[in-house]
Amino acid sequence: MESSCETCAYFVRHYIKIGEKYKTASGGHCFYPRIKLRFEDTPACDHYQAQEKQKAD
Ligand code: SF4
Repeated sequence: MESSCETCAYFVRHYIKIGEKYKTASGGHCFYPRIKLRFEDTPACDHYQAQEKQKAD
């Protein structure tokens, strides 16, 4: 499977507030090497860094 921005450590997802609840958006921003808009399905670029897996407590 090809990597995408969704699993990159530099991707920050955006949220939409609807009433009192937040819904995840398909877009967000990338902050490396500079801030730009990206979507979860945007193909990974050469700066891609896989997110570290969350540790289960
Ligand atoms: S544009 Fe590149 S560095 Fe930014 S989130 Fe996507 S894969 Fe990661």
